Parts: sequence; C-alpha cells; structure tokens
Amino acid sequence: MRKLIKKLSMLSLVVAMVVLAMGATPIIFQSLGLWRVEAKAEVEVKEEENQEAVEGPDKPQESDETAEEEASEDNEEQPTVEKPVKNPDTMEKVAYLTFDDGPTPGVTSGILDILMEQHIKATFFIIGELADRHPELVLRASDEGHLICNHTYTHNYKTIYADPDAFMADLMEGEAVLKQLLGSSYTSKIIRFPGGSFGEGKREFRERVLQEGFVYIDWNALNGDAEAKYVSVEKQLNRIKETTKGKKEIVVLMHDSGGKKTTLEALPLIIEYLREEGYIFKTLAEYEI
Ligand SMILES: [Zn+2]
Repeated sequence: MRKLIKKLSMLSLVVAMVVLAMGATPIIFQSLGLWRVEAKAEVEVKEEENQEAVEGPDKPQESDETAEEEASEDNEEQPTVEKPVKNPDTMEKVAYLTFDDGPTPGVTSGILDILMEQHIKATFFIIGELADRHPELVLRASDEGHLICNHTYTHNYKTIYADPDAFMADLMEGEAVLKQLLGSSYTSKIIRFPGGSFGEGKREFRERVLQEGFVYIDWNALNGDAEAKYVSVEKQLNRIKETTKGKKEIVVLMHDSGGKKTTLEALPLIIEYLREEGYIFKTLAEYEI
C-alpha cells in the first residue's frame, strides 16, 4: 500500500512537473525570443555605429551616393518628399539623361529597353509631329516612368524662329499633341529650344517662353551623337568624358532621332562610365531651375 502511495505521489509529481513545464515553455521561449530580438537589434545598432565610426565624417562619397540612390529610388513613389537643398560641397552627383528629336521606331524602343535594364529614368524631348506618327513610343516612355517634354511640333528652325509668335504657335501645337496623348499625366512645363536657348538672337524667344509659364532647360554635357551622321561608340564615350569632367550636375544631350544606332550601342557604356564616376540618375522633374 505504501509503495502504491509512493508510486502515485511520484507520478503526480512527474505530471505536475510536465504540466508546469508545458505551461512555462511558451513563456520561456517567448521571453527568450524577445531577448534574442532585442539583442539582435542592439548588435545591429552597434554595428552601424561602428561602421560610422570607422568611416568617419569623411567617408568616401561613393557609399553616400549608393545609399542616396537607393533612397531616391524609394522616393519616386512618394512625391511629397522635398527636393534636396543645393550645396556645391555636399551635393550629390546627378546625371539627367535627355534624348531629343524622337520618337523614332527602332531607336527610342532600344533606348527604353536599355533604360529599363539599368533601372534608369530619363527625359525625352519629343517632336510633336513624330509623336503623331508614333504615339505608342511616347506612351511607352511615359508608362515606364520617363519624363516627357515638349521640343516643338515641327522642329523646323526657319518657321519656329521667324518670331516669338511663330515659336509659341508651334510649341503649343506640340503641347496639344502630348496633352491629347498622355492626358492628365502630361504636366511638365519644361521645354527645350531646338538648337538650345543660347545666344542673343534667342533672347526674345526666351523671355516669351518664360512669360507664357514655361521653363527651358539646355544641357551642359553631351555624347556628340549629333555631330555627324554616325558617331562611333569610342567618340561618344570620349565626348561624355570631356564634357562631364569636374561637373557634379550634368544634363546630358543625346538623340533618339532617325539613324542614331550608334547612340544605342554607346548608351550602356555611357551609363557604366557615369555610374563609375559616382553619378545617380534622375529625370528633369527633379532638376532645380
Ligand atoms: Zn532637337
């Protein structure tokens, strides 16, 4: 009998221990888990602090820019994010790739393919007449996040530069085509003068365009693809190197007009070079005028 009682009490002790253990287990694991999460977070913070301490305030620009590039990619879906304040000392290196005089079948589509592969958004200065003929290319560029801007309807120097009224009429025709095509997604007031805004001869055109509520953007770098019919890849790369040297912010003039096959060939190398030089890529929507 005593043995039985002893056995029973032993059994109840074991049962009690099992129950206790089962009840306590989640708590133990949970608190262990929490501790582990906290500990991990602490380690991560410490690692970050260490990294900063190692890199110091003068850490290489490249790592800064990589972080900023990722941040800016995230920001693309957050239009409320404010533009960075320009300060030449701390300014990030930005490349605004621009393609003029398209859209052109076989060229514009190839450029769009490359930009997509490279995760780059660029700006297209569209000729209205060509947009009428190849609307699908303008729509594709817009759908893929590139900025569409007006480069006049005819791009015909003789007629558009006859006088400011003639210029405005042609510009508004281009604007109408883009508005009809893109609807409310076409909001840019940025235009580019065919041949650029440079020179005293265009003063009244510049003034008129500003009065009408537009802004114009030229370029300060180029690949030279308009300097001959077929400009070799090597020459384009050299022109890029020459014209971007020492510049933190570059608006790069290139063309997606007819026959610019070598621009297509050079573009991946141009992008590679600019990345190596620490540039990040943006559309002119983010350019501060
Ligand atoms: Zn042009």
